[in-house]
Amino acid sequence: MFFQHIEGLSGLVAAALFIFGLKRMSSPVTALSGIVIAGVGMVIAVAASFLVLADLPDAARPNLLTNLALAILALGIGGGCAWWNGRKVAVTAMPQMVALYNGMGGGAAAAVAAAGLLTVATAGPLLMSVTIAGALIGSISLTGSIIAWAKLDGRIDKPWRFGGQRVLNAVVFLVAIALGVLIVLLPDGGLSTAVIALLFFAFSLAFGVLMTLPIGGADMPVVISLYNAFTGLAVALEGYALQNPALMIAGMVVGSAGTMLTVLMAKAMNRSLANVLFSNFGEIAATGPSDIAGSMKPADAGDAAIAMRYASRVVIVPGYGLAVAQAQQKLYELVKLLQAADVDVKFAIHPVAGRMPGHMNVLLAEAGVPYDIIFDMEDVNDAFATTDVALVIGANDVVNPAARTDKASPIYGMPILDVDHAHQVYVVKRGQGKGYAGVENVLFYGDNCNMVYGDAQAVITRMVQAIKELGG
Ligand code: NDP
Repeated sequence: MFFQHIEGLSGLVAAALFIFGLKRMSSPVTALSGIVIAGVGMVIAVAASFLVLADLPDAARPNLLTNLALAILALGIGGGCAWWNGRKVAVTAMPQMVALYNGMGGGAAAAVAAAGLLTVATAGPLLMSVTIAGALIGSISLTGSIIAWAKLDGRIDKPWRFGGQRVLNAVVFLVAIALGVLIVLLPDGGLSTAVIALLFFAFSLAFGVLMTLPIGGADMPVVISLYNAFTGLAVALEGYALQNPALMIAGMVVGSAGTMLTVLMAKAMNRSLANVLFSNFGEIAATGPSDIAGSMKPADAGDAAIAMRYASRVVIVPGYGLAVAQAQQKLYELVKLLQAADVDVKFAIHPVAGRMPGHMNVLLAEAGVPYDIIFDMEDVNDAFATTDVALVIGANDVVNPAARTDKASPIYGMPILDVDHAHQVYVVKRGQGKGYAGVENVLFYGDNCNMVYGDAQAVITRMVQAIKELGG
């Protein structure tokens, strides 16, 4: 009994640490400590769950050592893999890693539910229903996240669409729910329940695959965020079934944070969640306006660097291409040279620049760029009108003025960085490649815009050289 009290109290402490940690993750300045605090909460929650073993009834004791050894082995393997993966993952592969880990969370919740189905049968229809709901959501999150990982990693690059697909998906989903209801209504715990439970899991897992296959690869970050919310919900439901407060609170925190992130991402792309899930947008080669006036005017990297060196204010807009080129360190070297020449340098971050939320902030933080020169879109947009040079590096859709003006454009209505208001714009990209939305960018044809062609790493290196050659 005593240990159960300690376990309950530890759950509360862990939950408080999760919430406090999450709060600190909302700013890049405090994010690292937030992650450490939430991690400490997780260690406490895991350690506390072992305490309950001390109060086990005698009947359960014979298996105690085996179970303990298995749990510790699982923790060791899981912790070791996560540590190794986390250290070696490239920033561009971060969304894939998040997808996999998120799926494992859903899978763990479903596994807990599967084990729970064997024991909660005696616990009444409410707990059974909660367990089944967690199992359904966790299973969808597991297989859906695996497909999202495969798409992001380029392992599945086919659209996988066919006529009647939505009807098939709806049927599979409804069968899974019907099987779940059957388990609640007929909890005899015998062979028939086991067979129904197996079928229930098979249909739930299949639905996760079927639901994710037709969604465009580039929409996967939004989908992962949605599955993240699913995983949180599944964990919270299983926490309720197990009467574990730490699991319940952690699940609810993850579930609500995931939901908010999904909504924010969809809003920043001016898309509804239904549009993301059902429109196949991410794989459509959308067409842009073919009658754009003007032409793309190439410029030399050295000339662009000199223009920045003699400017008063430079605003840099990083995008997906910066992550591809891994040019963040070189870029910060350029920024330091400009600052040394008394140029006011700011970074402007669009909420969906890159391929996952916060992608650019992580990239710049990795290079050591100070947070006080990094600004969110709404805080920096007015500054473009008084900016001498806007330097766009590997960004495309997030600076496309068609989003403001062209009602026919697929990105119409998406809030963008008003780079075109700057006095002079330089765009660094390799060639004529389009952005994620697949549309032409009106900005590139503007009178005040020049293209500096080349890989971002090579171009910025030339810029740094050019400024150094100018001397003090
Ligand atoms: P975009 O995908 O619009 O554009 C990236 C540009 O980078 C391309 O035009 C490409 O042109 C260029 N590029 C690629 N590699 C390099 C390189 N090595 N060196 C220089 N340039 C390079 O990226 P943005 O960041 O502007 O926009 C993000 C898009 O992703 C938005 O449409 C957003 O809605 C979407 N998205 C974002 C999510 C998020 O959470 N952040 C989630 C889901 C979607 P070229 O080939 O000519 O070099």
